[in-house]
Amino acid sequence: MEDLEIYCPKCTWEPQADDMWECSCGHSWNTFDTHGKCPSCGYVWLDTMCPSCLKWSKHHDWYHNLPGVEALMDEIAETVEQKIYLPNKA
Ligand SMILES: [Zn+2]
Ligand SMILES: [Zn+2]
Repeated sequence: MEDLEIYCPKCTWEPQADDMWECSCGHSWNTFDTHGKCPSCGYVWLDTMCPSCLKWSKHHDWYHNLPGVEALMDEIAETVEQKIYLPNKA
């Protein structure tokens, strides 16, 4: 899955390997290494805060180019295009 991209769904900021998130237990780690699970206390963070725009997003929403999501996005894009290019009968 080399096409998989990880970035903030709100501002497209991309986390780097040395970026750290802090758990409420005080442990710091890269949350994308463990899909949001704290390796110290085992708590799973369903939402992840972006250090760039400071907004919370679903951890899942940070992953892009997943095959299923890609197909869905194509469908949406086609629907939009059809609406834009409908012939004007007026
Ligand atoms: Zn923890
Ligand atoms: Zn962001």
